[in-house]
Amino acid sequence: MASFVVPLPNRLRSFSVFASSNGAPPRDSNSQSQTVGPVILELPLEKIRRPLMRTRANDPNKVEELMNSIQEIGLQVPIDVLEVDGVYYGFSGCHRYEAHQRLGLPTIRCKVRRGTKETLRFYSDFLLLSNDS
Ligand code: ADP
Repeated sequence: MASFVVPLPNRLRSFSVFASSNGAPPRDSNSQSQTVGPVILELPLEKIRRPLMRTRANDPNKVEELMNSIQEIGLQVPIDVLEVDGVYYGFSGCHRYEAHQRLGLPTIRCKVRRGTKETLRFYSDFLLLSNDS
């Protein structure tokens, strides 16, 4: 396992991340040590907050292709979701999410990682900046 600090632009803070061969969190750090690895959950669509939804446009052709494929073979790769204090946030998987919405599916399979408010702030800032470029 290796720990390292990622330097970020001024408006973002530095934060620690970890990497390990089995995906397990480190035992010796503070808040992260209380988290468990990602879990796969089937979540109702309306339970997932999508902070960047209004800043991004999906490719309608991709969404249609996904709708056809999901109808045929089901969702093969869950979307990534962050859980902070019992609230679920989705920053990616936008096309899969919209495909589910348009198919009228009530739930979507998610890979849920637990995070802190810090993590949430980082995701929001980082992805908003990426979106600007
Ligand atoms: P998204 O914004 O949802 O990530 P992308 O078009 O960038 O959309 O990527 C589509 C993703 O959906 C790929 O990672 C692909 O592996 C995944 N996927 C999951 N289920 C299916 C499916 N049934 N058919 C096609 N792709 C699927």
